[in-house]
Amino acid sequence: MSTSSPPPLRCGSCGATYADRWRCECGHPLDYAEQPLPDRAAPDPASFDARDGLWSFAEFIPESPTVTLGEGMTPLVDAPAWDAQFKLEYVFPSGSFKDRGATTMLSRAAALGVDTVVEDSSGNAGAAVATYAARAGIDAEIYVPASVKEAKLAAIRRAGAATVETEGPRQATTDACVAAVEAGAGWYASHAWNPAFFAGTATFAYETALQRDWDAPDAVVLPLGHGTLFLGVYRGFRALQQAGWTDSVPRLLGVQAAGAAPIVEALHGEAAAAGENDAADGIQIAEPVRKRQILDAVDDTDGDAIALGADAVDAALDDLHAAGFYTESTSAVAPAALSVYRDRDVLGPDDDVVVPLTGSGLKR
Ligand SMILES: [Zn+2]
Repeated sequence: MSTSSPPPLRCGSCGATYADRWRCECGHPLDYAEQPLPDRAAPDPASFDARDGLWSFAEFIPESPTVTLGEGMTPLVDAPAWDAQFKLEYVFPSGSFKDRGATTMLSRAAALGVDTVVEDSSGNAGAAVATYAARAGIDAEIYVPASVKEAKLAAIRRAGAATVETEGPRQATTDACVAAVEAGAGWYASHAWNPAFFAGTATFAYETALQRDWDAPDAVVLPLGHGTLFLGVYRGFRALQQAGWTDSVPRLLGVQAAGAAPIVEALHGEAAAAGENDAADGIQIAEPVRKRQILDAVDDTDGDAIALGADAVDAALDDLHAAGFYTESTSAVAPAALSVYRDRDVLGPDDDVVVPLTGSGLKR
């Protein structure tokens, strides 16, 4: 496998730089030292060549497209019953938006000459990493909670990845995985820690902007666990604005699972975050590693976060399916939250809203 040098990483907390490392010596998550930006004005959207999917936006992406399955340019469609546009993120090779991050992260791993990647996941990220590792010819070991959905486990195993099931809460899976990484099991292909993953999820913003003729929406309402999509969307729209391709950054309105809602707790207190929601299995994250960055993004975009229980999610899922959107249950938190944000007048009737539908119903 070819070994060029991918771009260096930097710690936003202490300023240390590294050629590659999964987290800073000081314990904080790393990011790219530099966000690449195009050196041209926004091209005519009608003639923009999008045949390379999300890699059509290579000008904004720090990695090279070494490991790709032609992913991205997911449909952005009108959803009249919700008075919003839905971006169909379940239209990806492994059935979720996590492929955005997997193609960029496994491309980095391949450039580094990595033999084995290790990841912990509630299912979708594990399936994405296993799928792209298979494409790259890299071995993968995926740590999953024992409660993982069978269809997600099958997707991981059928791609040839080894799986390690852990009992207990979602955090126990991460702890076991980190222990394995520290013991030298492999390169930590983490959707929570690895900055290459976020460079991939940022392409959501580039695609959405192109599909709207370089007009950013007023708001994006989206699920919020580790913030892999939330921070990617934020970084992408910021980069577009810095490049002068769009004029504004949308408000980022997150939704968390009641009972696993640390961002809501930080913003609105313990009572607003309390409850239970086992329907949203994809966002049961008690301690997001980029919590500070998520709170900064909320602050910077006049955003917000709310927590929802399972009942609201189940009802929204039925509505989605009945309208032809065959998603998994975690995807339904965002349309459910859209109604709540409108009821609370956080969103007005004239606000132009985009909602990602993050994962396929085929993996339920
Ligand atoms: Zn540091």
